[in-house]
Amino acid sequence: MNIFFDLDGTLLNSQKRLYELFQYLVPSSDLSFDDYWKLKRNKVNHEEILTTKFGYSSMDFKKFEHLWMKEIELEKWLNLDVPFEGVTDFLKTLRKKNTLYLVTARQSKEMVNKQLHNFGWDSIFESVFVTEQQKEKHALIQENVTVSPTDWFIGDTGLDIKVGKLLGINTAAVLSGFLNEEKLTAYKPDLILENVTSFTHK
Ligand SMILES: [Mg+2]
Repeated sequence: MNIFFDLDGTLLNSQKRLYELFQYLVPSSDLSFDDYWKLKRNKVNHEEILTTKFGYSSMDFKKFEHLWMKEIELEKWLNLDVPFEGVTDFLKTLRKKNTLYLVTARQSKEMVNKQLHNFGWDSIFESVFVTEQQKEKHALIQENVTVSPTDWFIGDTGLDIKVGKLLGINTAAVLSGFLNEEKLTAYKPDLILENVTSFTHK
C-alpha cells in the first residue's frame, strides 16, 4: 500500500517557525503563540489578521506576503521545526510493509532534503515530491506513482484532503497542524486523527 504524507503540520511541528517569522515581520504584533495559532487554526488567514488587527493596507500586505515567502524556508527559521513525538519510529515501522512518499508544497527541494537528513529520515521515503510552487501535489503524484483506492493521503489541511480525493484514495486529516477539527471536518476526510502516529489502517 502507498501512503502519502504531507510534511509541515503532519510529520513536523512547524508552528514555532511560522509564529516566530510572523513576529519578526510584524514587530508591532502583540499576539502570543497561542493567540496566533488559535486564529490560524480557525482558518483566519494572514491578510485578515493584518488588515483587521494591525491596520495593514493591501499594499502593506503584499509586501508582507513577499517577505514571508522569501524568509519562510531560510535555514534559521527551518531550524525551529521539530518532528512530532514518536514520528521517526512510527515511519520506520510503517515502511516495513508499505511504500511511503512525502508530498510537500515547499519552495526548496534542497532544504527539504537537508531537513530529512538532519532527522535521520533519508531512507524512509520511496520518493520526495516538492511542488516548488510549480505544480500541484496531485499532479506530481499522478505523474510518478500508480495509485490504488486502498492507498492513503495523510495531511493537516483542506488542500491535502482534496488531493487525496482527486486521486481517488483514502484521506486522513490530522489535528496536529494548521487547522482545527471543525475546519477539517468540512472537507470530509475518511479519518480524523489527533496526530499522525495514531494512524492505523484496516
Ligand atoms: Mg501541512
